[in-house]
Amino acid sequence: MGWEPRADRYGTMKYNRCGRSGLHLPAISLGLWHNFGDDTPHVLKQTLCRTAFDLGINHFDLANNYGPPPGSAETAFGRILREDFRGLRDELIISSKAGYLMWPGPYGEWGSRKYLIASCDQSLKRLGVDYVDIFYSHRFDPETPLEETMQALDHIVRSGRALYVGISSYNSKRTREAAAILKELGTPCVIHQPSYSMINRWIEEDGLVDTLEELGIGSIAFTPLAQGMLTSKYLRGIPEESRAAQGKSLRTDFINEATIARIRGLNDIAARRGQTLAQMALAWVLRGGRVTSALIGASRPEQITDCVKALENADFTEEELREIDTYAED
Ligand code: NDP
Repeated sequence: MGWEPRADRYGTMKYNRCGRSGLHLPAISLGLWHNFGDDTPHVLKQTLCRTAFDLGINHFDLANNYGPPPGSAETAFGRILREDFRGLRDELIISSKAGYLMWPGPYGEWGSRKYLIASCDQSLKRLGVDYVDIFYSHRFDPETPLEETMQALDHIVRSGRALYVGISSYNSKRTREAAAILKELGTPCVIHQPSYSMINRWIEEDGLVDTLEELGIGSIAFTPLAQGMLTSKYLRGIPEESRAAQGKSLRTDFINEATIARIRGLNDIAARRGQTLAQMALAWVLRGGRVTSALIGASRPEQITDCVKALENADFTEEELREIDTYAED
């Protein structure tokens, strides 16, 4: 018998309105940057997605280059859509992006119209869908006129390839410019995807959080667990199974004595709050409702279950926030 999603999957997740748009996103979303490439058994990818969906995580975030090799995460998710999520397309929010290197030559990265539209078509093909729900410009391109990149996003929506568009990692100034162009074109910028965590606070310093609030743009914070550092896993060395040990994007030299001391301090606060450090890190990102969704990654289904429980204790006292700041300043 095939897999059936749980009937009570919408029972506990919280859905937040994305800026001033009509789109709602789960407070916790799942990203497929790691653990969805050809180096991971399909059954694990399938279990991660099923676990997430059963917990009300209906938003799956991809990009053209997720793998390895680039593109393979979209291909794997396309298979999950066909085999596991058949008939569920209208319950899902699938996003993809273009901006980083995908193919050789001058049209395989950055922000030209030529690249964005070709890459979007490739993503749709790999995913096996007619449209994605959100399509992002993955990074600001200093050489392509911003008008061109935004016109390409507008075209992607008008041609039916995406329902909404967003931008990722653009600073506050560029976000204002991009949003103004998109507004003029009639395709609003609905979402911004920046990095954000207790130990990475650039969006506060840059003013991006205030800008997004003012413009009515939602936000989805990537690497809210600082790639796993904001969990208890590195407190007693580097576990073999961890991202750091596998020589992926988390460098072992990030996990030095000074960092561990800060993580230990944060872990103690989380313990006093009766939650895991991962749960506290996610609750912190979502505090005050300024971030629409926290975008996690996972290498095991139990991690997703653990993360979702963050919503059970999502409020902080002023004193807790101050104490967190003493350990967690950027
Ligand atoms: P996180 O900060 O959530 O780190 C995920 C890692 O943390 C997991 O792989 C796992 O590490 C560990 N982890 C997760 N939950 C737990 C838990 N409950 N207990 C213990 N450890 C846990 O995010 P990612 O770095 O994975 O990024 C998330 C997503 O953000 C990506 O998949 C992608 O969609 C997006 N992203 C976007 C970028 C952009 O430029 N727009 C750039 C980077 C990411 P381990 O593997 O060691 O077990």
